Parts: sequence; structure tokens; C-alpha cells
Amino acid sequence: TSTAGGDEKEAVKGYFNTVGFERWNKIYGTTDEISSVQMDIREGHAVTVDKVLNWLAQEGGVKGVSVCDAGCGTGSLSIPLALQGAKVYGSDISEAMANEAARRYEAEAKAGSTAETPKFEAKDLESISGTFHTVCCIDVLIHYPPERMAEMVGHLASLAEQRLILSFAPSTPYYEVLKRIGEFFPKGSKATRAYLHREEDVEAALAKAGYRVAKREMTASKFYFSRLFEAVPAS
Ligand code: SAM
Repeated sequence: TSTAGGDEKEAVKGYFNTVGFERWNKIYGTTDEISSVQMDIREGHAVTVDKVLNWLAQEGGVKGVSVCDAGCGTGSLSIPLALQGAKVYGSDISEAMANEAARRYEAEAKAGSTAETPKFEAKDLESISGTFHTVCCIDVLIHYPPERMAEMVGHLASLAEQRLILSFAPSTPYYEVLKRIGEFFPKGSKATRAYLHREEDVEAALAKAGYRVAKREMTASKFYFSRLFEAVPAS
């Protein structure tokens, strides 16, 4: 109904509260009862999360740092950050996802841990307000059509004080061809549309928001591909 995406956003929300939740909860979990495609995606995603954690560790760690994890899913990034001492706010358009992230944190946090319990909330990322030292948004841009990408990146940048870490599936001629022939989105997983983004478009959106890309990474396997940027204020 609005520039926030209307019907398509509702479809994404419905998907990640139902069949999408079932699918991604398994992929982001530990059960070995998943297909080889899902295992490939699980492993690729874990590499992306590790790269983020390594960057943050190299930059002095996250103890006491406020972090917003926008589109937190089941908490793959939020939970280790909280356990390392960050003050984590994680939200997701899907209530099922946000609840699962909270459940997993409770299951993983050791009794007597001094870590601050993250705040998990069901909220679309356009509605997040406030400011955070660091904002992360991992593997969420795939749900945004190119015409909505810049607005979303601008909003995330407005929430960040020092650092914005985001990942997206890059649009290159090669990946566009693979996407078209269905290589990356095998049968049964097409419940939502997937959008690839041109790297220069994401950089331009960051520049418009006053951010420059300071670090880059790429993780690619057979069925998973994700470009990772760390952006910092340009001046
Ligand atoms: N960031 C998590 C991770 O890396 O483990 C989850 C990635 S998962 C592929 C994409 C997530 O984005 C889903 O949990 C979905 O519900 C969420 N999502 C999609 N559109 C969103 C929106 N507009 N606002 C907030 N979350 C959204």
C-alpha cells in the first residue's frame, strides 16, 4: 500500500511466519535432516556470519557496543554477539523468527552468564527507530526489489552511528543467468521472489546516506552467494 512495499511485504511476512519459517529454521539450525542444497546454504551462510564476527573482533570487539540486527531471523548473528557482550536489539518482520531467536538465546546462554539478554521483536525494518553504534543486516536485501533498496539502505544508515554491515546477493551477468535458469532457487523454495542487487547501486545508496564502503567480502558456493560490505561514515 505504500513505498514500504505493500502486498509483496505482506507476502514475505506470511511466508516467513509459515513455510518459510519451517524451511529457514531448519537451514539455520543443526538438524542433519536437510537436503544437500539446504546444507550448502547453511554452510555458506555460516561463513558470512563468521566473516562479520571476525571483522567486529578485529575492530576491538563488541563488549558494551549497541548493535541492531535488522531482519535477525533465528538469531544466527544476534546470539553470538550478545554472548560476546554486545547490547543487541534484533527484529524481524516474522514473529515466528523473532520468537525462535529469543528461544535459541535462552537455550544457548549459560546459566550465570553475565551477557545481556538481547531484545528480540517482531517488527519490519522500516519501523525500527533509535540509534545504534553498529547496524547489521545480513541476507535480507534479497527480499527487496531494486527500486526499494536505496530507501531501505538509507533508513539503516540513519540508525547507525559508526558502522553498517550489510550483505546482499550481487547482480552480475553470471548470477542473473543462474537465477533465470533456477539454479539458485530450486523447486519448492520459490515462495517469495528473490532480487539480486548491483554492487554499484548499493554503494551509491550508501554514499547518498553519507557512508563509504570500508571492507568487502564475498562468499559463494553452489547455491549460496552473498556480498558483504562494511560501511562507515564518509567523513
Ligand atoms: N539475518 C538473518 C541471518 O542472516 O541469519 C536472517 C536471514 S533470512 C534469509 C531473511 C530474513 O529477513 C527473514 O527472517 C525474514 O523474515 C526477514 N525479512 C524480510 N523482509 C523483512 C523486512 N522488511 N523487515 C524485517 N525483516 C525482514
